[in-house]
Amino acid sequence: MAEGKVWLRKGREKPLRQHHPWLFSGAIAHAEAAQDGELVAVYDSRDRFLARGYWNSQSQIQARVLSWRDEKIDLAWWRRMLLRAIQRRDNHPEDTAVRLVNAENDYLPGLIVDRYGDWLVLQALTRAIDARKQSIAVALRELTGIPNIYERSDVEARQREGLAESVGVLQGDEPPARLEIMQGGIHYWVDIRRGHKTGFYLDQRDNRRMLRELAADCKSEARLLNLFSYTGGFALAAGGGIQSVNVDSAYMALELAEANTALNKIPAASAEFIQADAFDYLRHCVDSGEQFDMVVLDPPKFAARKGQIQRAARGYKDLNLNALRIVKPGGWLMTFSCSGAISRDLFQKFVFGALVDSRRNAQIIRQLGAASDHPVALTFPEGEYLKGLLLRVE
Ligand code: SAH
Repeated sequence: MAEGKVWLRKGREKPLRQHHPWLFSGAIAHAEAAQDGELVAVYDSRDRFLARGYWNSQSQIQARVLSWRDEKIDLAWWRRMLLRAIQRRDNHPEDTAVRLVNAENDYLPGLIVDRYGDWLVLQALTRAIDARKQSIAVALRELTGIPNIYERSDVEARQREGLAESVGVLQGDEPPARLEIMQGGIHYWVDIRRGHKTGFYLDQRDNRRMLRELAADCKSEARLLNLFSYTGGFALAAGGGIQSVNVDSAYMALELAEANTALNKIPAASAEFIQADAFDYLRHCVDSGEQFDMVVLDPPKFAARKGQIQRAARGYKDLNLNALRIVKPGGWLMTFSCSGAISRDLFQKFVFGALVDSRRNAQIIRQLGAASDHPVALTFPEGEYLKGLLLRVE
């Protein structure tokens, strides 16, 4: 298909020159022969080439950049870029689950690929990726040698591209109800058809490992409150020497969490699973005076967009205040935000506000983020969605 052309308004080329990959409608002067989901070359107001990307007139982000060089974007290009991303993931050979392609952050906007053992799970977030997903799946199969590729494009972001949800087999077999993976020395059952995201929160790998180190230094009767536990990741990392209470609203997650406990040979008596609203459960702990040596607070995304920040602030404040109230003196709070619209600074301000109200004191021991298979392009601050703090609470 013929390539379209797009010209920017005068003075609007700076973000693109600085390698930000998104082009908003307001920056565009006019477009010629640009077709949704197809390639476009981008020029400044003086007709100089800036970048090549793909177009979607239905999205606020009308173009996403694939390359800042004047090069051909053909199948060989896609294979080269996929291979480059895959080869950069070789640092944890014992892990059978890993993010292979992290969208804009791997210079492949709109494409997520996660590996779970003998399955790859692909998420197509944009129209152009959606249009190419079969050929990307074929290339991935060849490049990785992994035969089965499953699509989990059931995400809200697709609505903003004018796309419906899409889920199913792209290559190979239908996945089993549960498949076993290993990540960071822990075994997990993952349900790639019904699980959250592509099946699992791969991004918390390094933070779970950090919790494991803290747990190793705790007394054997120490207690962990793992709020928003999903399939139990943080409690499994803490291991059988710690008494854990895991709280999540999703029954399916807790069912897998319990199975994961057995899979890792953690005694059933050392882990409790409670289906409840985490806000309510925390309030109940405060009211009943229950205390924990460690609290993990890993809520879902409260703010996807700027307009939701106020509401998100109240949520973070409430959770962190009550969590700070129930940590034993000298204990730990690991607190996270995965809201893309909330910066690290702003999140820290929310936690500070909670700390002031709790009348306790705390030290930041570590700033936390996503694991190294979730790189963040420095030119793309939007890529840093996961941030957290490890606090020692006095
Ligand atoms: N810590 C987890 C990931 C957490 S993701 C891990 O290590 O894998 C957020 C989780 O919060 C999801 O499992 C979701 O089911 C749960 N959740 C969402 N809203 C909730 C609420 N109000 N109360 C309890 N759990 C909730």
